[in-house]
Amino acid sequence: MIVLKFGGTSVANAANISKTIAIVTNKSKEDKLAVVVSAFSGVTDLLILAGKTAAAKDKNYKEIVSQIEKKHKDAIAELVPSSEQSEIIETISDQINHLKTLLDGCFLLGEISNRTADIVAGFGELLSSQIIAVALKQKVSNSTFKDSRELIKTDSNFGKASVDFGVTNKLIADYFKSNTYQVVLFPGFIASSLDGNTTTLGRGGSDYTAAILAAAVKATVLEIWTDVNGMFTANPKIVKQAQPIETISYQEAMELSHFGAKVLYPPTIQPVLKDSIPIFIKNTFEPEVYGTLISNNPNASTNPIKGISHIDNIALLTLEGPGMIGVAGSSKRLFEVLSQESINVIFITQASSEHSICIGILNADADRAKTAIDKTFEIEIAQNRVDPCIVEKDLCIVALVGENMKNHQGISGKMFSTLGKNNVNIRAIAQGASERNISVVINEKDVKKALNTLHERFFEDNTKQLNLFVMGVGNVGEKFIDQIAQQKKFLKENLKINLRVIAMSNSRTMVFDEEGINLKDWKTALSEGEKANVESFIAKVKSLNLRNSIFVDITANYDIAGIYDKFLSQNIAVVTCNKIACSSEYNNYKTLKTLSRKYNAPFLFETNVGAGLPIIDTLKHLIASGDKVNKIQAVLSGSLNFIFNNFSETYNFHDVVKEAGVQGFTEPDPKIDLSGVDVARKILILIRESGYQMDIEEIENNCFLPKECMDTTNNEDFFKSLTKHDDHFNKLLAEAKSKDSRIKFVAKFDNGKASVGLQFIPKESPFYNLEGKDNIVEFYTDRYIDQPLIIKGAGAGAAVTASGIFADVIRIGNV
Ligand code: ADP
Ligand code: ASP
Ligand code: MG
Repeated sequence: MIVLKFGGTSVANAANISKTIAIVTNKSKEDKLAVVVSAFSGVTDLLILAGKTAAAKDKNYKEIVSQIEKKHKDAIAELVPSSEQSEIIETISDQINHLKTLLDGCFLLGEISNRTADIVAGFGELLSSQIIAVALKQKVSNSTFKDSRELIKTDSNFGKASVDFGVTNKLIADYFKSNTYQVVLFPGFIASSLDGNTTTLGRGGSDYTAAILAAAVKATVLEIWTDVNGMFTANPKIVKQAQPIETISYQEAMELSHFGAKVLYPPTIQPVLKDSIPIFIKNTFEPEVYGTLISNNPNASTNPIKGISHIDNIALLTLEGPGMIGVAGSSKRLFEVLSQESINVIFITQASSEHSICIGILNADADRAKTAIDKTFEIEIAQNRVDPCIVEKDLCIVALVGENMKNHQGISGKMFSTLGKNNVNIRAIAQGASERNISVVINEKDVKKALNTLHERFFEDNTKQLNLFVMGVGNVGEKFIDQIAQQKKFLKENLKINLRVIAMSNSRTMVFDEEGINLKDWKTALSEGEKANVESFIAKVKSLNLRNSIFVDITANYDIAGIYDKFLSQNIAVVTCNKIACSSEYNNYKTLKTLSRKYNAPFLFETNVGAGLPIIDTLKHLIASGDKVNKIQAVLSGSLNFIFNNFSETYNFHDVVKEAGVQGFTEPDPKIDLSGVDVARKILILIRESGYQMDIEEIENNCFLPKECMDTTNNEDFFKSLTKHDDHFNKLLAEAKSKDSRIKFVAKFDNGKASVGLQFIPKESPFYNLEGKDNIVEFYTDRYIDQPLIIKGAGAGAAVTASGIFADVIRIGNV
């Protein structure tokens, strides 16, 4: 015989019930079947709510009952031919009337006893199974309905009764001995006490009903039909990348279900274990998919981890104090009082000093537990030998499960470091001696991030998802987004980096999409986004709490440079081409670097100097490997280089500067380039990255602009002043010519001093032939003494800057 169980979604409505019936009809051709069904999806919740509503003297319970009645009558109308509906409609009406009477009683009394609550909750299965039995009869005439309460006997622990297997197994065996039907349909979840009252087997208990039947008849297989393709490596509703597990051992499946994998009710495995009856988990909506096979001998797998599960709504109770050390029986008293209060302990850790015991229980039990524990230890508390019990709520347990973990080292290390890297604070840890399970307690708000990042680490071949929040999508930003769109596939396939842009903002609008913005149409999405607001942008990034979050600043904005600390201190990486933060007061720069280290959040700004050229990265490697920078000489302004390379007798200074702006080689405010401020900022950053402390005021700036140009306050006046001072610039050109030199704007650092300014560069100098908008940097270090280390190449332009930003993002992905 085969036992099949169909869950709530499999019987949610007439359409789904037809799918269920089709599966049963097919299977009935192979073997005799016992079929267990749940209540229609959501009905048990509604029944429980109706009971509570009535007990609270709220008349709305009537409304809820009508809703339940309608659901069932609608299903009958669709599933059963009208000529045969009257009998089942009458049965259902009788039962709904019975339910109403019970609830009216609760309403009048203003209370609901546990016993009544069980009768009420059990109506869902009773109604669904009778309707499905009638519908099934249309397809399999040799089928019948049997009330599980007549066969499954329990104690009177209403709400979660314990099965009396001695009596139950005999009743089931006797029933099937004389059974001639090909298919017998049972309601799940409900049973009855030895004295005949309806009991229930706990939420999700229909799985258990099926297992009890399977064990009693020694079924060849137990099939649990649900709404997913098996037991997954993690809850597929939370972890999109989760995959069905093909084969798994009983112990592993039990561990996963105990730790929250709702797909299987935890006690289900126990009855079938003794006879090693295999359990299949199958999808009613994709019956052809293999599903998961739970058995004694799952296929060998290279991954020691089988799955990750979690339990929400956990509270941690800590009992500590010197009075706990070496005093026999403290733990006994603690667990005894919890047991007296019927509080289930899910998680236990004890420091080896015995100084403290920490237990995890459900949030809902926490206050009751604290009162009881404090009462038990009241003498010790009064004598200050034990502290009052500390309660922390809204936590969650995350567990890694796998039989083979015991044969592998370093799994817990990987688990903790993966969580740590994502700033998930671990509140407590437990690992059983069997090493089948490692569990950690974390904050509920981090659970999605934790599950996804652990799943990525243990199941996704080390693929790393990077989530970008981009501020500023102008010239450079647009190129950056285009480059991502173009490289996305390559990165995923070759570097195992899954790059997603979660948010974008310009000064007008901002758009967020937790699943990643469609980069093919990002302009429309952005233009249709909400009004831009930096504060709410920051708040949203934080509240999404995604793993590997990166804030990307592609603005030249002063205020945006002031918010990096808010990200870094939340373990959100910052990548920026905006030089303002790194060239601001030394303390600010230092604070950001410290935050980055403290919170393990990369802070990268390669494009602050030389656009996409790997200057800062090279410098970092020199310093990290023990070298010391003694002198730097550089042409760091692509814009000034472009300007002085093109400025000639026939191309006046004003026009060249304009053209540089048009081509995107200058800052939005060109005075920042021409005044030397931009170059001063860059050399300052190189000096700081070389390990020296310096502020911008200490850099000598030999400005070549006339004072009147410097004093202008907007771009229009600035350009006018350039024309006005044409002579001044022509003189510079003439002087360079007379010296057979070229004009370059050079930054220098030597002997602890730094300066920037124009120089007439003679032909022999490597700076002489610096073309177009190129940059060059020479590092003289302890290792590069006479011949400097030189980095040279295009140092300005939207595309190279964007690729520099991109490179920083990839650096983070490769960490
Ligand atoms: P049924 O009503 O069929 O008994 P349940 O809702 O009780 O279905 O269980 C199926 C659900 O369990 C899935 O829809 C999924 O959301 C959840 N679930 C949680 N963890 C897992 C997991 N590891 N594998 C599969 N499903 C899981
Ligand atoms: N209907 C019950 C519940 O919702 C039992 C089950 O579906 O397994 O808990
Ligand atoms: Mg279930």
